[in-house]
Amino acid sequence: MINPETNMIPEIDRDKCNGCKICVKACPGKCIFLDSEDIAYIEADYCENCGICAYENPHLCPEEAIKLPWDKWQRNLQ
Ligand code: SF4
Ligand code: SF4
Repeated sequence: MINPETNMIPEIDRDKCNGCKICVKACPGKCIFLDSEDIAYIEADYCENCGICAYENPHLCPEEAIKLPWDKWQRNLQ
């Protein structure tokens, strides 16, 4: 599990998303939706920071469009 205090809300690369909804179905918080262009986005206020959507081994997202913002997390540590 990811510590919510680190604010590790995943980020979705709009250029990579193909709208397959795998992340939408996998999100336990039901906080990933498709927008009017069928691109996934996260309602950050409801994200539980579980990290499931951004799982990388193997990637949950077939397009590898979802990442945890490790760069922001590292900046928070400084
Ligand atoms: S799993 Fe990836 S490609 Fe599929 S809807 Fe989610 S972000 Fe888009
Ligand atoms: S981190 Fe968990 S709760 Fe947040 S959007 Fe991803 S799957 Fe949903």
